[in-house]
Amino acid sequence: TPQARPLSARIHLDAILHNYRLAKRAAPAARALAIIKANAYGHGAVRVGQALAPEADGFAVACVAEALELRESGIRNRVLLLEGAFSPDEIVLADRAGLALVVHCQQQLDWVLAARPERPLECWIKIDSGMHRVGFAPGDFRAAHARLRGCPHVAAVHAMTHFARADEPRHPYTANQVEVFDGALQGLQLPCSLANSAAILAWPQTHRDWVRPGIMLYGASPFAEAVARAAGLRPAMTLESALISIRDLAPGEPVGYGGRFVCDRPMRVGVVAVGYADGYPRHAKDGTPVAVNGQLTRVIGRVSMDMITVDLTGLDNAGLGDRVELWGRRVAAADVARWSDTIAYQLFTSISRRVPLVYA
Ligand code: PLP
Repeated sequence: TPQARPLSARIHLDAILHNYRLAKRAAPAARALAIIKANAYGHGAVRVGQALAPEADGFAVACVAEALELRESGIRNRVLLLEGAFSPDEIVLADRAGLALVVHCQQQLDWVLAARPERPLECWIKIDSGMHRVGFAPGDFRAAHARLRGCPHVAAVHAMTHFARADEPRHPYTANQVEVFDGALQGLQLPCSLANSAAILAWPQTHRDWVRPGIMLYGASPFAEAVARAAGLRPAMTLESALISIRDLAPGEPVGYGGRFVCDRPMRVGVVAVGYADGYPRHAKDGTPVAVNGQLTRVIGRVSMDMITVDLTGLDNAGLGDRVELWGRRVAAADVARWSDTIAYQLFTSISRRVPLVYA
């Protein structure tokens, strides 16, 4: 059999379980909805869901299709639809699959009230405390809550909100969102959920009844990489490939499309089988970290569709077929992201169909 292309994303399910436990330990009084939307941030929702199912208090996803995939794989835990229903028909599907619904606007509220579900629906009212994307205005919360509470086919009602700037330590905007949220409740006692990963790690006053860890489950910090390491997070994805070509170039010779990088001395250049069609960021600048045989070096030249070029000058014994880590335990995905002006979330969710996910 021919050798396969050497690129794969190895997924460490044990790291995801470890990171989930860290989230629980950081917010010990809260229950946690593991955020596994967008195919568990590219890590494979079914496999991640199954690994967490024995311990997870619940899961959250972005749409019915993502939720049904979990149900079809046998996951029975609570599953919350973070954007609620996109049509009345979806309430029927949610009812059949036993899904909990975010209700973020009057139209969704009307759909819920008009529904005839077989079982009472669990609803999470979303309050817009400052993100200004979706959610009821704080002054409209009480009326929405009263209508849902008075509805015989609505079971539990929760209140939730989402932070815009929790990844900025001590930024007053987050404190203000908490104040707006509490003000909207006006003393009503109901289960509340505010915290994403950043708030779990840095804003203990937001933990309340339910936390919603996303990116931290995958071992990346919403803060500087040092914070992720200090918190004990373990990277859950290793994107790795191999050297498929090596050449020695003279000073003045350019590398790759557009000749963006020009050798400033005699250089050894390695070609790695990974490109932007795999999800490697095309905007990675010269200098983006990469590890060859565990030794740190840098991307040079423009990222192509199927290949990147890296600096092997001065590395001991790098040879054809040698292992290259694009991100993982040696190279933090958040660092690679910074070098291409994006975030680890986007790197993980951009891994393409062409890249096999391999589970350890
Ligand atoms: N809660 C909601 C409503 C979200 O949309 C998300 C992700 O975007 C999360 C929680 C998880 O956020 P993070 O991945 O930053 O922990």
